[in-house]
Amino acid sequence: MSDCIFCKIASGEIPCSLVYQDNLVMAFKDINPLAPVHILIIPKQHIESAQEINGGNSQIAGYIFEKIPDIAKEAGIAESGYRVITNIGKDGGQLVPHLHFHILGGRKLETALG
Ligand code: 5GP
Ligand code: ZN
Repeated sequence: MSDCIFCKIASGEIPCSLVYQDNLVMAFKDINPLAPVHILIIPKQHIESAQEINGGNSQIAGYIFEKIPDIAKEAGIAESGYRVITNIGKDGGQLVPHLHFHILGGRKLETALG
């Protein structure tokens, strides 16, 4: 996806504040943090949103959830707790159409989700 901002981050074309990467995923600090810790984790492959997860690509979703605890531990929020969010589509508030999970923590988060 040549015009996808997160594909460009994944390829190194656009810089980011890197937290973790391997050949499958990348985690970096959100440019507009909503909490003291606000990290995004993305698959390097372009998947538009969680709505596009299927039997052919769901391994990457499992892999992302395998990495999240390590990233949270490294960020110092594993004990205090945190929230993982993925927004989907227009009503879900998704601004970047490349699957990503927000990892938010470092303060008591609001209870309202909607
Ligand atoms: P969404 O609303 O799609 O779930 O969230 C997109 C997130 O990506 C937003 O929190 C926004 O601040 C973040 N974001 C957008 N562009 C960039 C960028 O170029 N670099 C980084 N690090 N974060 C970005
Ligand atoms: Zn992309």
